[in-house]
Amino acid sequence: MASNLTIVDVRDQMPNYEVYRDWQRPGAILGIAVHHSATADRETGMPTGDALTFFNYHVHGRGWAHGGYNYVIGADGLIEYALDEEIAAYHAGFKDPGDSYGLEHGQYWNNHYLAVCLACWFSNGRSWRDEEGVIHPIPDQHVSPSPAQMKSVLGLLRHLTAKYNITPENVRGHRELGGSHTQCPGLNLDPATLRARLREPEPIELEEGIELPEPGPGEHVVILPSQDYLDPALGYIWRFGPDVTFAARAAVGRWPYVTVVGPPSGISQEQIVALRGGGARLVQRVAGDDPISTQAILDRLVAQGKRFMAPVDDSPPEPELDTYTVQPGDTLSSVARQIYGQATLWPIIFNANRDILSDPGRIKPGQVLRIPTLPG
Ligand SMILES: [Zn+2]
Repeated sequence: MASNLTIVDVRDQMPNYEVYRDWQRPGAILGIAVHHSATADRETGMPTGDALTFFNYHVHGRGWAHGGYNYVIGADGLIEYALDEEIAAYHAGFKDPGDSYGLEHGQYWNNHYLAVCLACWFSNGRSWRDEEGVIHPIPDQHVSPSPAQMKSVLGLLRHLTAKYNITPENVRGHRELGGSHTQCPGLNLDPATLRARLREPEPIELEEGIELPEPGPGEHVVILPSQDYLDPALGYIWRFGPDVTFAARAAVGRWPYVTVVGPPSGISQEQIVALRGGGARLVQRVAGDDPISTQAILDRLVAQGKRFMAPVDDSPPEPELDTYTVQPGDTLSSVARQIYGQATLWPIIFNANRDILSDPGRIKPGQVLRIPTLPG
């Protein structure tokens, strides 16, 4: 499970739990269906409902044995685990006595697809009908998934698809399930978008509180390995306005901040080492396996407004230097013997202190010498 995925287990708080708790779904889990609850406050248009309100309605209002979804995700991104994955949720079944769809009389999706429901109503122009049949509009509020809700549903889908070895093709919106007649999960939630996101590499999680640099004009360059990466990088380039070059070699020593685009098959790791060696403060590779997956990462940085994706300083820390205060009677040789156990290593100390020593034969009591750590 992704480390930042928080799931609240509410299974035993749902109505009728003691009755169905040990039930088992007839067959394997083959996919995941995404729903919306189509619930919104009539006055404000804001989303309403959670696992308990939906389950209460399904059990007490409609007479089902249990609620219709395995997971419910609130508009705030809270994930509720409401019905055991091993129990078939009543989320997309339909009556098909002649089995004209070849879907086990319309129960195929219930039996083989997990149900994830977003508590929201993802359509514009929503309305409700009163007892006299008069239709009232509902304000267009929260008609698309919030960032928190999108993050949670993608995190949960990643977790479940990995757990059950489900391919993105088998993550579907309710309306894409054969035999269904519904707009669910709402016209503003395109299931193809979810699948596309699931095919991308794991999202980059930026650690909180890390200061990312803000390069000035001319301080940041994007290095592209080939023409193939120009289109994929255009969104990033437009957003942040870095310099752009294809000449990695010529970039050494010219820019303090460097974004290398694409995998090492394009711009090699040796080039990155050379760029760092040339004095760049930050050299960062942004790479998927190919231009398409690389673009996905660049576009996510654009969406997050993040020019860089990781802590700035990934260079090895400066070696810690010990110091030694010269005592009366010391020579560089005696200091080297004391510290390194070998008098002949005195040139190491001399070379580290050339700013204060001009003659290795002359050191003065009270001088503070820098003592490098010996390699190894
Ligand atoms: Zn649905």
